[in-house]
Amino acid sequence: MQIIEVLIEYASHTLDRPFSYLYKGQKKIAPGFRVLISFNHRELVGYVLSVKDSPLSPQQLEEEMGFHFDEIVDVIDESPLLNEDLLHLVNQVSEYYLAPRISVLQAMLPPSLSPRRSSLKAPKIAYDQYVIINNYNEDNLTDKQIEILRLIQREKKILKREIGSPSIIKKLLDNERIKIVLSEKRRLSLPTYTYEKPPLLTEEQQKVIAEFNQSKDEIYLLEGVTGSGKTEVYLSLSEEQLKRGKSVLMLVPEISLTPMMMEYFIRRFQNKVAILHSELTPAEKYDEYRKIARGECKVVIGARSAIFAPLENIGLIILDEEHVESYKQDSQPFYHAREVAIMRGKMHGAKVLLGSATPSLESRARASKGVYHLLTLRKRVNEQKLPKTTIINLTDYHNIDRESYIFSLTLRQKLASVLARHEQAILLINRRGFSTNVSCRNCGHVFRCPTCGIALTYHKSDNMLKCHHCDYVEKMPETCPECGSPYLMKTGFGTERIQEEVHRLFPQAKTLRLDSDSAKIRQKIPSIIEAFRRKEADILVGTQMIAKGHDFPDVTLVGIVLADIGLSMPSYRSSERAFQLITQAVGRSGRKDKVGEAIIQTYNPSHYAITYAARQDYEGFYVKEMGMRKLQSYPPYCYLASVTLSSKKEEQVITQAYNVVDFLNEQLGEAATVLGPTTPYIPRDHLSFLRTVLIKYRDYEKIQLTLKRLIDIYQKKASINLTINIDPYNF
Ligand SMILES: [Zn+2]
Ligand SMILES: [Zn+2]
Repeated sequence: MQIIEVLIEYASHTLDRPFSYLYKGQKKIAPGFRVLISFNHRELVGYVLSVKDSPLSPQQLEEEMGFHFDEIVDVIDESPLLNEDLLHLVNQVSEYYLAPRISVLQAMLPPSLSPRRSSLKAPKIAYDQYVIINNYNEDNLTDKQIEILRLIQREKKILKREIGSPSIIKKLLDNERIKIVLSEKRRLSLPTYTYEKPPLLTEEQQKVIAEFNQSKDEIYLLEGVTGSGKTEVYLSLSEEQLKRGKSVLMLVPEISLTPMMMEYFIRRFQNKVAILHSELTPAEKYDEYRKIARGECKVVIGARSAIFAPLENIGLIILDEEHVESYKQDSQPFYHAREVAIMRGKMHGAKVLLGSATPSLESRARASKGVYHLLTLRKRVNEQKLPKTTIINLTDYHNIDRESYIFSLTLRQKLASVLARHEQAILLINRRGFSTNVSCRNCGHVFRCPTCGIALTYHKSDNMLKCHHCDYVEKMPETCPECGSPYLMKTGFGTERIQEEVHRLFPQAKTLRLDSDSAKIRQKIPSIIEAFRRKEADILVGTQMIAKGHDFPDVTLVGIVLADIGLSMPSYRSSERAFQLITQAVGRSGRKDKVGEAIIQTYNPSHYAITYAARQDYEGFYVKEMGMRKLQSYPPYCYLASVTLSSKKEEQVITQAYNVVDFLNEQLGEAATVLGPTTPYIPRDHLSFLRTVLIKYRDYEKIQLTLKRLIDIYQKKASINLTINIDPYNF
């Protein structure tokens, strides 16, 4: 008999401890297996932490321990889900982010292998049927049958369904001349690209590559202006690692937005590449995950969670566009792929390379201090000129006239000339929908999401009001629910409205729209991008999705319709976000032999985020913004942790939030500054009221224990929920 310790699938701090069960069966069982258990009369999935043999009988054990042990219902797996390294990583991530271990395991494993009940219904292995020779003998066969037999002999192994004559195959099987073998099927079909020899590298690229390969440092920041050829550096460094017998983990923010990166890697490394990201089906993810675990792929490309890919012997981990916020998971365990990459890098003795045209301030500051090794690419490949940029002041009435209150005269003229030259333009507005605010003209009632409390956006295409935070939708009402007035006012504008304005002003122009509405259907993003690249449209309208690293050779104009949207968000990162977005967008204009232009429309023409972005001057922005952060004492001058309380009762959440502030002040003293409680920007979560307390600190070790105690105190309270987010982004 064996005593098994398991973690329960519920991701709560209360249950983040081992529960003991007995196992009397004959199946193999070891740490890292999933088992089916009964917990509080419910059948749940558990994750095995340890297995001990016990000489005692169940009765003796019960007498000795003083309580009854349940038996495990069944063993699910035949081999452990995680290798030693990944198990170690689970503990490290859980310890740093103060997250239940099971939540880390659930973030780490694909749906079919996740320690949760739903995984049991998730897709399992699929097989392909192949035919091979069993007993080569041409006696008593027809000529047709011999032809097929010889074909199989020649090819050794053929997919059964690819041989066009099922009756002949059946005959040969009946005669036992051939037999069927099963082979695991890869459900993800990757596009095939022919191998291309690496292009000649520029002097700057060669220098960066040599410096990286010769250095013994662990973490690098590659800062390279848009169009400076970072991708070629990634490919070359990866190739070097493969030559040394190592494997490579390549992270991108969202793979569907960067199909080119995948193409480049497949072109260079062919079938050594595996893909892991959130848009794969559970079946595809399962296959890719197992393929990596078996060691069949040496290069893994994927989004955030691919940082947990079961790759062994890693030599290099790359995070492209390291500043992008989607690398931070905004739910438990709230991990950031960059921090996990650094943890994994240490474990494997691998180098970590962070790349960006606009690095996050945290990374750039660490590079200044020598914590990261800074590498720079200052020149665009082929010495292309940076786009010519014009800032349009929207507060000046000369710029906006009756013809259009959305597009300035300059933007209209530039669009007209792009269309006349048969080139292409991109129009960016970082808001989807038609109008961003609907209110009653009579009583001032604002339509808000009943679940999370933020203003609803009007979508004209389906005449609906939608919440852009949760999935809430309602039909656009005819009258005000408060006073019955039919006069409803729509203000603000998003992508849908911009597209309509283009059609009104330039009826002959063909447009495409790329935002998360148009991209609801999987596969749609790459096809929109492809269609625009093939010049099936003149103008692409979209949100920040279009600012990512696409290469559109015929785009000679980028119009940022309203640059201020990011700036008005209540966050210490708002300038950084606005700068990054505008810089990336402007960088899309003018490639190859064409000089591009960019028009930035704004109500804050002298704001430094806008002026530096217009000049593509990252270093200038960095110095200025660091000054602001120092003044207000925000990262990178300190670290942040947030404590969020939620409860169905607003009164309770307010009282408890003040208790948390008192507790933290008392315990932390000089080690931290405690701010709040405040109502977050999204004030509610599924009808629960939220309050947040922010902690600014310099030394994590000095606050970690106190935070753990806070978790302990609150896990005993049933009606209130407490979550901690280390290095939160939304402040
Ligand atoms: Zn009203
Ligand atoms: Zn909502």
